Amino acid sequence: MCAVEAGKRGRRVAVIEHADRPGKKILISGGGRCNFTNIYCQPEHFISANPHFAKSALARYTPADFIALVEKHHIPYHEKAPGQLFCDRSADDIMRMLEAECAAAGVNIFLRTKINEVQRTTEFVVRAESVVFHAPALVVATGGLSIPKMGATAFGYDLARQFGLNIRQTKPGLVPLVLGTRDRSQYGDLAGVSTEVAVSINHHAFRDKMLFTHRGLSGPAILQISSYWNVGGSILIDLAPGRDVAAAIGEAKVRNMAAVRFAFQGFLPHRFATRWVDLHTHVAWNNQALAALDRQTHEWVLLPEGTEGYEKAEVTAGGVDTDDLSSKTMESRRVAGLFFIGEVVDVTGHLGGHNFQWAWASGASAGRVL
Ligand SMILES: Cc1cc2nc3c(=O)[nH]c(=O)nc-3n(C[C@H](O)[C@H](O)[C@H](O)COP(=O)(O)OP(=O)(O)OC[C@H]3O[C@@H](n4cnc5c(N)ncnc54)[C@H](O)[C@@H]3O)c2cc1C
Repeated sequence: MCAVEAGKRGRRVAVIEHADRPGKKILISGGGRCNFTNIYCQPEHFISANPHFAKSALARYTPADFIALVEKHHIPYHEKAPGQLFCDRSADDIMRMLEAECAAAGVNIFLRTKINEVQRTTEFVVRAESVVFHAPALVVATGGLSIPKMGATAFGYDLARQFGLNIRQTKPGLVPLVLGTRDRSQYGDLAGVSTEVAVSINHHAFRDKMLFTHRGLSGPAILQISSYWNVGGSILIDLAPGRDVAAAIGEAKVRNMAAVRFAFQGFLPHRFATRWVDLHTHVAWNNQALAALDRQTHEWVLLPEGTEGYEKAEVTAGGVDTDDLSSKTMESRRVAGLFFIGEVVDVTGHLGGHNFQWAWASGASAGRVL
């Protein structure tokens, strides 16, 4: 996106990519259909040490701008969950669109090109194995650490440090959580069971599906909250959001295990309802015991042991400190001509197309000024 915008302004642009094709993450995104934007994308959908930083770029290049590009290329798309736009056919449509835009803007793409060194004299000197680039501006768009087997590297962070920029600590985001041994032994065999929940950490809350896995929890609600989770912290899960559990149980005339299980099956998947009630067995189902179960169902406090790590994370939270960048242009405040865009920056989107919208918007902001 940055290369296209700069190329359209007559700049000579080289995209240097170490993989054998560009945009590999686009190709695997959104289950192969690329959730390329979110029509409700707002600055509130991003996590950053400076929550105001993303505003300027997001306002300069909006979801409507990207949708106009998609429509110009006659790419069929649909809205899946509210606001989330996906390709009807395949993510390859988005890749072809970007490649066509690059070609039209005269952008040169150098594939299988590994950078060995970057220096700054009166200009940037970028040395790869068999070619040296000289340029007045350098844009770092190397993404985060997620999915190392697809070519993710720490190169962007190393380069930022080399030029004196600060890095906010990185961690896997939008990632499944791993439960502790006890919880795993109690729920691990429910892998594949999914239920709607409301999860929260402090005032950050998401209502969506939660999925049990062999090692812990996943599903959109858990992926969303994982970006706010830090090692040692707990998460709060409401297993029956908006449901009056006590009243449902209270309706059962005979209060025995079977009746309570049956009541829970009204708002939890069958197997999980049974397990949940069995793990909270009371000798006497009196009002006090029911009130306690009601509370636990709405306020399940879980202490995850960890996450599934960068191998399974959709994004990397943290990154190049926004204090060191201009929010209008993404240029370094310390080094003129050095830009950082996309996921390498400490701006992390929620699930649902926000990370791509940030990549497009920050890229366009830089491409229009460099
Ligand atoms: C499985 C998965 C699914 C996802 N689905 C979605 C989705 O549907 N919607 C959404 O909004 N977001 C999604 N994301 C997140 C989204 O893909 C990223 O946030 C986005 O691609 C970031 O764009 P970027 O250009 O900053 O970095 P990237 O897309 O990661 O691109 C960085 C590029 O730099 C190259 N590179 C890295 N190091 C070097 C180096 N040293 N030398 C040369 N080249 C290098 C890489 O090969 C890569 O091509 C998904 C992520 C994953 C992992």
